[in-house]
Amino acid sequence: MLRFFLYGLAVLSSLAAVGYFTVAAPIADAWYNTVQDESPYEVSERARAVHDTLMGADLHNDLLLWPRNPLRRYDRGHSDVPRLREGGVGLQVFAAVTQSPMGRSYQGTEADALDQIPFLAAAQRWPLRAWTSRLARARYQARKLRRATARDDRLMLLRTRADLDRMLARRADDPAVMGTLLAVEGLHALEGEVANVDTLVADGYRMMSLTHMFDNALGGASTGIEKGGLTDFGTTVLRRLQAHDVTIDLAHASEALVDDVLARTEGPVVVSHTGVRATCDSPRNLSDRHIRAVAERGGVIGVGLWETAVCGPGVAPTAAAMRHVADLVGTEHVALGTDYDGTVSVPFDATGLSLLTEALLSEGFSPREVEQIMGANVVRVLRRTLPPGTPP
Ligand SMILES: [Zn+2]
Repeated sequence: MLRFFLYGLAVLSSLAAVGYFTVAAPIADAWYNTVQDESPYEVSERARAVHDTLMGADLHNDLLLWPRNPLRRYDRGHSDVPRLREGGVGLQVFAAVTQSPMGRSYQGTEADALDQIPFLAAAQRWPLRAWTSRLARARYQARKLRRATARDDRLMLLRTRADLDRMLARRADDPAVMGTLLAVEGLHALEGEVANVDTLVADGYRMMSLTHMFDNALGGASTGIEKGGLTDFGTTVLRRLQAHDVTIDLAHASEALVDDVLARTEGPVVVSHTGVRATCDSPRNLSDRHIRAVAERGGVIGVGLWETAVCGPGVAPTAAAMRHVADLVGTEHVALGTDYDGTVSVPFDATGLSLLTEALLSEGFSPREVEQIMGANVVRVLRRTLPPGTPP
């Protein structure tokens, strides 16, 4: 009897293990990355015409965390290279998430709450190191993107301004050419070692935010507990980032951290994905004072598509937040930071970005202004912040 019981238990646990290592991650992917409306998406002829001539540039996408080959088209989640191309995106920033504490919320996220990434890493059979090491998780995600760019000669990893210019020149002849840029979401990925900045830069990372959902050794998060400013370690890291011409991203930073970083840096910074308090009052979102401060530095504010950033479903709240930033500091400081595949609910997947063009036209933006918001502003800032590299 006991023998049969043990045999049954063994069969059941192997089935559970097979399930865990095959379907658990895709199920989590589909569960967390939802769209409010399924494709195909319809827009007016005018919006279509404007959208087809612009180049989309998106400041934030978390695709690399999920069990999807970036080069293949999927019917779950928000994006992949084929869908981004169809949506008119020519430049995509892919961010690496390396720690995601359970129960994260805008009420305050505890840094030591149970981290969900080990479960995702194990379920996707990431290398063993990446189950426990945040640095290894960032390195693995960079490798995933580099492998994709190596297999598709029209997909480029941009490391320098020269790369960006090469991409733009190639894209003028072939709209399938797409540039990608690697970003890190929160420098707890350094695991306390400033020298790991060099490792991440060597891996191709060119944009970094100091914090993510929770306070870390560098400083406070907008959804942290203490929400403090820059620490001594944060100051040391910031200097190293500047030495490498890493683009500073202030998304997720506490108000005190935004002030401290702006006081210690020069030149443009970005806020890769955010909402604004004037249209959606949340501690995660930017105040008018900080919108002005980022604009004064020549930076851009990437307004998100997701429901909790803009306080409502559909695309209109995103267009309204963009209108607010434009009215406050000028259209040249407005950009797009979708947060696609960032465990959020969005109105449409990457093939529906023309709906945002339509919503911006309805907000009264001219076709030229829509072109700036949808991509040209990001190109302008990256041309200033990326290391020069060797010109073509
Ligand atoms: Zn984020």
